[in-house]
Amino acid sequence: MANAWSNWSGFVKAAPKLIAAPADAGELAELVRMAPGPLRVAGAGHSFTPLVQSDGTIVSLEKIEGLVSHDAAANRARVRAGTRLGALMHILQGIGQGLPNMGDIDKQAIGGALGTATHGSGPTLGAYHTQLETVQFVDGQGKLREYSRAGDQDMIQAVGVALGAFGVLTEVTMNNAPTYRLRRRKWVLPIGDMLRDFETMMAGHRSAEFYYIPFSGYAQFIASDLSEQPTTARPTEDDEEGLATLRKLRTVLRWLPSLRRALIKGAVKKVPSEDYVQDWFNVYVSDRRTRFNEMEYHLPYEDGPKALAEIIELTEKHFPEVYFPMEIRSVAPDEFWLSPFHKRLTCSIAIHHDAANDPLAFMRAAEPIFLKYGGRPHWGKMHSLKAADFKKLYPRWDDAMAVRRDIDPENRFVSPYMAGLFGVEPGPSGTHQ
Ligand SMILES: Cc1cc2nc3c(=O)[nH]c(=O)nc-3n(C[C@H](O)[C@H](O)[C@H](O)COP(=O)(O)OP(=O)(O)OC[C@H]3O[C@@H](n4cnc5c(N)ncnc54)[C@H](O)[C@@H]3O)c2cc1C
Repeated sequence: MANAWSNWSGFVKAAPKLIAAPADAGELAELVRMAPGPLRVAGAGHSFTPLVQSDGTIVSLEKIEGLVSHDAAANRARVRAGTRLGALMHILQGIGQGLPNMGDIDKQAIGGALGTATHGSGPTLGAYHTQLETVQFVDGQGKLREYSRAGDQDMIQAVGVALGAFGVLTEVTMNNAPTYRLRRRKWVLPIGDMLRDFETMMAGHRSAEFYYIPFSGYAQFIASDLSEQPTTARPTEDDEEGLATLRKLRTVLRWLPSLRRALIKGAVKKVPSEDYVQDWFNVYVSDRRTRFNEMEYHLPYEDGPKALAEIIELTEKHFPEVYFPMEIRSVAPDEFWLSPFHKRLTCSIAIHHDAANDPLAFMRAAEPIFLKYGGRPHWGKMHSLKAADFKKLYPRWDDAMAVRRDIDPENRFVSPYMAGLFGVEPGPSGTHQ
């Protein structure tokens, strides 16, 4: 009987010949050499694109996890690539270190988060890959390789964001922060004010982001700044209750847009503000129980408000089924070759669609707006781009592809989906000999 694999949202499914969870790098190398191809590595399956899909082998690194070593003076930690971010937070806190920034959840494996340039928000804060000091991986021929920023910065920049196609990461060393505390504030404001003051509001905090609540005319702004004040209680999270209300209003009042708008606006205006101080690991992440599919595009920072205004207009005119808030963040520029933040201060706009319904019409209608502004898609979120598009969007694309060929000359990690991204032939379904 075929093995069944599916991503978090259930949109991507696979029936590989083999699903394997090697215990160490030696077993992993053997699989890379011998298992049916193409071989795709899975983190926690939280990507929305078919990055992990394979009818050959899907490898999970769930047993290759935990702390390897750390350097207290340099705030560095070497961890195995299957370590989930939730476990990593506890490991780091235990050794007096902290992740400088985080995204919305802590379910991803660090290898998976690095693989798609997963990010949080903050105009001076880079995505997780910018913390990389060393990488160790098994290449397409089953050989263990290791590179460091000090020894070979180009290789770190080439493989730091690698979509599981430049070898299977086994261990990474991350540059962390000393443990720290944040003051977190949330409040609601009219979207017109938010768009007008976008640059000052986003740049006015260490980390800032906002959600636009569709059909409300209002945004919820979230700001975090370093604090040395004593901790105070984090308010109980009500995101899921809020979503349930938005879904209900959508369902009941879908064809009564004025009433829907008035009720949502009234409810959003009553959402209480928040203001609390907590240790870093108690601030960033939330519980995401309602399943969705997502598209997120990374745009030139200054174009964010214009693009968002167009996305809001599109949604509210043509897609009454949408009820998930849109999420808007900023990310610092970096030098990594396949990073969507390559040499560009970024405004990221994410749109979501209930996983119970087909998201494609909405995503297809929104994508041209993002592309018009030169957007680069989040590698792990829905998009329709292929190699020829990426070549135009990424100045180091050809260099990255040359490194990929060196690491995986036989295309062992190239599934049909990856072949479309890279403009190469899929790898053979047999083994490497
Ligand atoms: C509820 C939810 C919230 C999210 N929030 C955010 C957010 O705040 N910010 C953001 O940027 N993204 C966010 N995402 C997207 C998510 O962070 C990325 O898609 C991420 O890559 C998922 O990590 P994963 O461990 O599940 O990896 P997977 O989805 O399993 O894999 C992602 C890629 O990494 C590769 N990979 C995995 N492990 C390794 C390894 N050991 N070596 C080499 N390659 C590897 C895979 O082959 C694949 O190409 C969210 C997704 C969900 C479902």
